[in-house]
Amino acid sequence: MPLTLTDITKEFGSTPALRGVSLEVRDGEFLALLGPSGSGKTTLLRILAGLARPDAGSVRFNDEDFLALSPRARKAGMVFQHYALFRHMTVAENIAFGLKVRPRKERPTREAIKTRVAELLRLIQLEDLGGRYPAQLSGGQQQRVALARALAIEPRILLLDEPFGALDAKVRRELRHWLRRVHDETGVTTIFVTHDQEEALDLADRVAILSAGQIEQLGAPQEVYEQPATPFVFDFLGAANQIKGEVKAGRLLAEGCSFPLEEACADGPVTAFFRPHEVDVNPEDGEGLACVVATVAARGAAVKVECRCNGRLFDVEWSGRELPAHVKVGAKVKLAPKRFRVFAG
Ligand code: ATP
Repeated sequence: MPLTLTDITKEFGSTPALRGVSLEVRDGEFLALLGPSGSGKTTLLRILAGLARPDAGSVRFNDEDFLALSPRARKAGMVFQHYALFRHMTVAENIAFGLKVRPRKERPTREAIKTRVAELLRLIQLEDLGGRYPAQLSGGQQQRVALARALAIEPRILLLDEPFGALDAKVRRELRHWLRRVHDETGVTTIFVTHDQEEALDLADRVAILSAGQIEQLGAPQEVYEQPATPFVFDFLGAANQIKGEVKAGRLLAEGCSFPLEEACADGPVTAFFRPHEVDVNPEDGEGLACVVATVAARGAAVKVECRCNGRLFDVEWSGRELPAHVKVGAKVKLAPKRFRVFAG
């Protein structure tokens, strides 16, 4: 394993930021660190970059003690949310900066630096803008320059902290796909911090989901989405409805109804979750939880319906399927989740 983190802990005063994080990052992998605000993502990245020290734990890079190395010796490329480009330098000078400040014996010749900058400008598709200053670029272009600057030193590892966090949704989506292409072209091991589930699931080879300084689950996007290890992961990766119930002989008994379960589950009290898009809304004489339609609202390409059952609201979402005629505000309906995720307790 190129990068192995073992039992990393870090406290700020009495606030635990990381509570025993162990993680192996594969060579050439694109790994997303995903978690809510305050879960410890940035702290973990700063420890890898050498900008912070853990209280305990180790980080090895190809069997080398990574924590014993100075930030520069680690050869990690970093990009932060707020473009830290040098305002008084052109785009080309910004990209060349990391190479120009390398120790003399590692420093490439002027010509080699020029060639490398031209290569990187091509990679970030800003060939013609090398002479511009950062203030003359859009936010998305500035982040591409920041990435080129991080790649210039041929980093052993690329650390990205919410690099698109300050950009609008459309630019963000474009850059996401572009970043994945750049990664595939360079093959550099990349750790990408985000609190955006869609971004992480869309972009990464594997996703590590952090909560309160601990890794809740690590796996391929499909795996963590389809087989969440904990209720937190299920809830964090998408909209979720929750009901309490009991499993008996392969069926879920909840709110006076009985539902078949797809997966084997031990008998006993459970919390069951279902996604808003995995629900049928049957007419009043059909099967399911007795509800009243509380709201029907168009949300872009989808229609969002809220159904009230014993004073609680369940979310239902339609996209790509027509809303049945009986789903109207005030109508009595039966809610039939098609798939549950069940957790004991
Ligand atoms: P965000 O998405 O908001 O950036 P994060 O997941 O990156 O959050 P961290 O910034 O790593 O989380 O913070 C983890 C915890 O450590 C939080 O409780 C935070 O308040 C605390 N923390 C982080 N840096 C410091 C610091 N320099 N001094 C004190 N507490 C800190």
